[in-house]
Amino acid sequence: MFINFRLRTFGGVFRRSDNKIQEISPDVFGSDSESPVDLLIIGGGINGAGIARDAAGRGLSVLLVEQDDLAAHTSSASTKLVHGGLRYLEYYEFRLVREALMERERLLKMAPHIIWPLEFVLPHSKAQRPAWMVRAGLFLYDHLAKRERLPASKAVRFGPHAAAKMLKPAYRRGFTYADCWVEDSRLVVLNAMAAASCGAEIRTRTRLVAARPEGALWRAVIQDESGRRETVFARAMVNAAGPWVGEILSAKLGRNAAKTVRMVKGSHIIVRRLYDEDFAFILQNPDKRIVFAVPYEHEFTLIGTTDIPYEDDPAQVVISDEETNYLCESVSRYFRHPVTPADVVRSYSGVRPLFDDQAENASAVTRDYVLDVEGGNGQPALLSVFGGKITTFRKLAEHALEKLLPVMGRKVGAGWTAATALPGGDMRGANFFAYLATVMAKYPGLPAAFLHRLARAYGTLCERILGDAVTLADLGENFGGDLTAREVDYLVAHEWARTPEDILWRRSKLALHVPEDTAARLAAYLQPPGTATTSAGRLRKAG
Ligand SMILES: Cc1cc2nc3c(=O)[nH]c(=O)nc-3n(C[C@H](O)[C@H](O)[C@H](O)COP(=O)(O)OP(=O)(O)OC[C@H]3O[C@@H](n4cnc5c(N)ncnc54)[C@H](O)[C@@H]3O)c2cc1C
Repeated sequence: MFINFRLRTFGGVFRRSDNKIQEISPDVFGSDSESPVDLLIIGGGINGAGIARDAAGRGLSVLLVEQDDLAAHTSSASTKLVHGGLRYLEYYEFRLVREALMERERLLKMAPHIIWPLEFVLPHSKAQRPAWMVRAGLFLYDHLAKRERLPASKAVRFGPHAAAKMLKPAYRRGFTYADCWVEDSRLVVLNAMAAASCGAEIRTRTRLVAARPEGALWRAVIQDESGRRETVFARAMVNAAGPWVGEILSAKLGRNAAKTVRMVKGSHIIVRRLYDEDFAFILQNPDKRIVFAVPYEHEFTLIGTTDIPYEDDPAQVVISDEETNYLCESVSRYFRHPVTPADVVRSYSGVRPLFDDQAENASAVTRDYVLDVEGGNGQPALLSVFGGKITTFRKLAEHALEKLLPVMGRKVGAGWTAATALPGGDMRGANFFAYLATVMAKYPGLPAAFLHRLARAYGTLCERILGDAVTLADLGENFGGDLTAREVDYLVAHEWARTPEDILWRRSKLALHVPEDTAARLAAYLQPPGTATTSAGRLRKAG
């Protein structure tokens, strides 16, 4: 833990880390003078992108900088559930669960292409929790917030239920309830697109180097991946750096943070599809934690997650053998066919940037968010985000602006995001399947599975990619998995995609489906031999 203090000597800012004092050189604060933006947002995860959308839509000028790709870290490493969080009821997190349950229904309407209902089966295990306790939890879950589209929970006997095929015969009864699935990294990109369409500037591969107050403004130095530095001025700054929120405060701003983040690692494994049905399982473990097994990308099952205290570099987080074993054992305890580490096709890990409430163990740390605001009275405003869920990003953004605007002394538009579709989500009646049927009818010469994938990923914007195409060949080079040049060009032009990994793993999950040479072919296409990092505008976002 850093103990920080600021000294101003010859204009320099110093940071003390244990016995080391590092100077943030005064030279970093160059003088590319420009007119200030209202809001400089650090971090292109779900919270930074969500705040950018809300703020830009209220009329603030916004610059968002993300040191890597959008959703490069925690926001692409989640279990991908828009959920109230049944488990959090045990920790009396009623405020969070109610807010999250309310958001479920809203988000379903805002983005019916990337968010859809998912049924969960909870096998009853007397050794973990008595049935009355689970029933009481589900009753609360059903009633804490109004449900419009999602069904209520039910007690079930597995005899006639399809779950009986997968479960060991000892598990004869249980419960079902509904939550939602979300394509997490696409949710981030759609928020960034919505922000950009309201005038925000989104700069990926650009990091905050340092910032300091200068009068009523922040003077901040940002640096792109080529090493080019620029000084920008902002009336307020949002620190939405997720696991780096503390580092931004101490190392980049030279501040002594009163609140701290508790980093908790969570890992997932992906195995070949364990069963054909569309429902997911929520499985209780002897340590009182729960693990999900969720149908994933048609051919796979996603299993996660773990809760491990973490103190290393968030960018280097990887699954351990113990975590893989834990996840395999969690599923094998319930399923007739055991899952072993040899079945793992791929894994991923992320770091939860939780607000440190001093809870004893990692699973008990609050999942609720805390927003810390400083400034006002002639000082520029600073808002730092601690914690937060994918599910609650929209509400978090609203709360962030409610706290920030008075400190900035600004009166701009009221909250507007609750009933506005995200890009591509403008489907009549928020009915994805009705929209899919119209696309299928419009493009009879294109493969149904391809149209389904595009409609899911881009919603109504898929027609921008398809244009007047009649057959797949009209969409240019096919890189494998029906990823065509037209789609790649769209991702580069409108979604800030720059590398094969951006495209295959964050804008889509095609990495799981394409042949081995796709990444190399894409790399050659994105950066033809003999070109510099940016090729003739093709790699630049075009609005
Ligand atoms: C294993 C796991 C499972 C989860 N499952 C769910 C779930 O099912 N449902 C749910 O609702 N939530 C879930 N969550 C929680 C959710 O994923 C996180 O709360 C959320 O993604 C955090 O978003 P963020 O924007 O705060 O952080 P991040 O996504 O990490 O974004 C912060 C960004 O800041 C950038 N940054 C850092 N420093 C700088 C700098 N100096 N300059 C520029 N940029 C910088 C980083 O590169 C990073 O991209 C899960 C989390 C984990 C880890």
